[in-house]
Parts: sequence; structure tokens; C-alpha cells
Amino acid sequence: MEKTMPDTFKAILISRDEEKNQSVATTELGAADLMEGDVTVAVEATTVNYKDGLAITGKAPVVRRFPMVPGIDFAGTVIGSNHPDWKEGDHVVLNGWGVGETHYGGYAGHARVKGDWLVPLPAGMAPLQAMAVGTAGYTAMLCVMALERHGIAPARGPVVVTGAAGGVGSVAISLLSRLGYHVVASTGRISEEAYLRDLGASEIISRDELSEPGKPLGKERWAGGIDAVGSQTLANVLSMTSYGGAVAACGLAQGMDLPASVAPFILRGVSLLGIDSVMAPKPIRLEAWRRIAADLDHGKLAALSTSIGFDGIVQAAHDIADGKVRGRIVVDMR
Ligand code: NDP
Repeated sequence: MEKTMPDTFKAILISRDEEKNQSVATTELGAADLMEGDVTVAVEATTVNYKDGLAITGKAPVVRRFPMVPGIDFAGTVIGSNHPDWKEGDHVVLNGWGVGETHYGGYAGHARVKGDWLVPLPAGMAPLQAMAVGTAGYTAMLCVMALERHGIAPARGPVVVTGAAGGVGSVAISLLSRLGYHVVASTGRISEEAYLRDLGASEIISRDELSEPGKPLGKERWAGGIDAVGSQTLANVLSMTSYGGAVAACGLAQGMDLPASVAPFILRGVSLLGIDSVMAPKPIRLEAWRRIAADLDHGKLAALSTSIGFDGIVQAAHDIADGKVRGRIVVDMR
């Protein structure tokens, strides 16, 4: 087992002192430092999601065990396995399961995890492409699948995407437009209009239209929504959803609160669909990654992602926590 594991490899480590002050450092780890698990993976690509930004900046209590290697997702090659599903040389993807929160994550040259947490790298996708999608993109796909399960289809009307220029938003727009939807993109960065239209948005609206307190029921503007923002924005998206529509809620970029009324639910039969990527069961993950490989335009994926190296992770984490990142950041770990 672990024939190609080097003596040491680079890693980011978040530590906490006795006063609970958090510090972030680049360090070298060895095989013995990794946590328990039945599969060891050479990490070839990882990414910077909003949650990674919160973990590294310490803005929210994402990390719940110290020290911790952050990084909630990675793609790479199995170099050792005691798990029946995986053998040396298999290409794998990991999203969530507490990795980067309670179990050492993707910001290290190697990771040791439970084989049950892994899914195969989709055929036709390279590790860097899978991480250009990353947890944000896989969550966007979970949102699309939830809307479809609810019967939302292009013929039902437009779908709004909030936090449009962010990671979840950018991938959601690309997926929805490829599937034939009329996509309304809500953004605080109107300067990104050309980018959002290139991804497939048909209409661009200002974030301000949705971020302030509104009426319990507004004009019916869309059949569905993918919301990465929460708070007042989600309340307004719901209030403007047409009869029988549905909104998939996955994020909290504006806030964790939901200052809404029941009016959209009880007067328009609108549904609020909760999306969690971290503990999603394996069959749903496999279906999401199958759909990503089938439905996501590779040209658009390249257009919405920026590649950085290991040394750029900490800065990118600060940038994403400040809402400054456009699309997705993929980290080349090779
Ligand atoms: P990004 O930072 O890439 O995107 C978030 C976007 O939200 C920003 O780009 C910005 O878009 C918008 N935004 C930021 N701040 C505010 C604000 N104060 N008010 C309104 N809009 C704002 O993050 P990700 O795409 O990686 O993640 C998006 C959200 O989804 C996060 O809250 C994240 O935690 C959550 N998430 C949840 C998952 C789950 O399993 N449920 C999995 C993955 C992500 P713009 O500039 O276009 O307005």
C-alpha cells in the first residue's frame, strides 16, 4: 500500500491556540500525519469554495476540529486502498462528508479518507475539470435535479439564479441554459453582464431588486429558482415564484435568516426545496456527476473557471469570503 507516497508533501494547516485564535500556515506532512481512512489519494486538483473561504478566514465555524487541513473537495488518483470498491490507479472525486471540517481535506498533496465517501471521476472529465465544477458546481446540479423532480421544465417559464456570478450561480446558469431554460441572473456585479450572458443568462437583474424587504406576494416572475444567497433574497425569490413553482435553496451568502411569509406556500402552492451537498447519499451524487458530465458545456466550464496553484489558495480563500471571486477557482496540485 501507498507505494508512491513521498516522505513529505505540502499542506495547509489551520490551528487554534488556547485563546481560540486561529492561524493558517503552509507546512509539510507525512503519511503518518493523515487521519484514519481506508483509501489514500494523491490529490491532483482541488478548489476554493465559499465554505473554504469561511474556514480559512475563520469568518464562520466551519472547522470543528483542530488542527485541520481545509479543503472540502478534491480529485485525484488512488495510491492505496483497503476498500473493496477502490484500487490503486482509480481516479476519484470527493465532495463534503465533513472533509476539510472534521477530517483532513484537499489542501494537501495526499488525503486519506473513507472509500465510501468517494465517487469515480466521471468518464471524459480530467481531475482539473471535475474541480472546476467542484462542490459548488455539484451543488448547482443537485439544485437542477431537485427542480426537475418537482416538475419544473423549460416550458414552465423562467428560472432565476441568485449569486449569479459566484460558483454555484455560474455553473447553475450554464447547466440551465444548456437544458433550454430562460435564465434570469441576479447579481450584485452588473459589470459581469457579458460574462453571465456568455454562460447563457437571458436576463440580468440587479441583486438590489431582491435583497431588500418586499411584499409577501409579488408579481409572478419565474417558475423556479436556484438560490445561493438566502435571507431577504430567498424570501423575495419565493414571493415572485409563479403558481406551483419551486425554489432550490442551497446558500447563505446574504445571510442564514429567512424573513419570509407563508403566503407563497399557501396561496400559490410554491415549494421550497432544501439542498445539502455534504451528506447527500451516494446514488444522488453518482447521478449528479453523471449529469454534470453529460449536461455541462466544457467550453463554458473553462470560461467560468480560473486556475491557481497551491500557493494561491489562502489569498483566494480571502477573496471568495469577500465576494470578489467570479465563477470557480480550480487549484492545480500537481
Ligand atoms: P461564491 O462566493 O462563489 O458565490 C456567492 C455569490 O453570492 C457571490 O459571488 C455574489 O454573487 C453573491 N453574494 C455575495 N455576498 C452577497 C450578499 N451579501 N448579498 C447578496 N448576494 C451576495 O460562493 P459559492 O458559489 O461557492 O457558494 C454559494 C453559497 O452556496 C454559499 O453560501 C455556500 O456556502 C453555499 N453552498 C452550499 C452548499 C450546500 O451543500 N448546501 C454547497 C456549496 C455551496 P453576485 O456578485 O453575482 O451577486
